[in-house]
Amino acid sequence: MLLIFSDLDGTLLDSNYSYSAAVPALELAERNGVPIILTSSKTRAEMETIRIAMRNIHPFIPENGGAAVIPTGADGESKTIPFGTPYQELTGTLHRLAKQSGVSVRGFSDMTAAEVAETTGLTLPQATLAKQREYDEPFLVTGAQDTAGLLRSIEDAGLRWTRGGRFFHITGANDKAMAARAIRDRYALDCYALGHPRPATIALGDAPNDCELLRFADIPVIVKSSHAAELAAMVPNARITRLPGPAGWNEAVLDILRES
Ligand SMILES: [Mg+2]
Repeated sequence: MLLIFSDLDGTLLDSNYSYSAAVPALELAERNGVPIILTSSKTRAEMETIRIAMRNIHPFIPENGGAAVIPTGADGESKTIPFGTPYQELTGTLHRLAKQSGVSVRGFSDMTAAEVAETTGLTLPQATLAKQREYDEPFLVTGAQDTAGLLRSIEDAGLRWTRGGRFFHITGANDKAMAARAIRDRYALDCYALGHPRPATIALGDAPNDCELLRFADIPVIVKSSHAAELAAMVPNARITRLPGPAGWNEAVLDILRES
C-alpha cells in the first residue's frame, strides 16, 4: 500500500488556491486506491472546505501537525489525535512572555476577521476560517523592539516559533511528521492484519516547514519553489520537480504511481 502526504500552499495549490493542474495525478491516485493525506499549516476549518471541494475523504493534518484528524463515519464524524499545545494556552503564554520582554504583539486572536483579511490578503470568508485556530497563533510584532528576547523566552518555555513572511507563529513542540507517523501507523495496523507489509509513504512539500515530513517519507518530493535548494540540502534524498506548484505535483505523482 502507498500513502501520499501532501502540503497545500505552493505544493498542491497554486497562488490562486487552484489544484486543477494536479487533477490527472489526483484521479490516478484515487483509481489506484492511494489516499491523499493533506498536511498543511492551514486550520481544520480551512482544510475541511478544501477537502469538500476536492472530494477528499481521507485523514488530514491541520496547523503544521497540531493534530491528526481521522474520519470515522460517512456523516462527517472524525477522531482527533492532538499533538500541539491548546490555542488558549499558546495565546496566554504569548501575551505573558511579550509583556515580560517589553514587546508589543498582535495575534490573530486579537484581530477581527476583517483585520486578518486586510493584513494577510485573504478574503473575508477565508479569514473567518483562518481565525478558527487550535494549535498555532500567528502574530505580528508591532514597532521596532527586542524581538530576539521574546523568541528566546518562547523557546525557554518549551514552545516553538517560526516565521513565515510578516507573521511569526508560536506553536507547541509539534511538526507535520509526528502527525503523519500516527496516521501511517494506523494504516500499518490494517496492513499487518491482512498480512501485508507496512505502507510506503510519499511526501510532497515546498518549504522549510515540510522538512520533517519529507525526512519521514520513503519517497520525498520537493516541489520546485524559491526554497527548493535550501530544502534539498536538508533532505538530500528528495527528488525535485521541474515545475512549481500543482503542475510539479502532477508530474511527480504520475511518475511515482507509474513506477510502483
Ligand atoms: Mg507550502
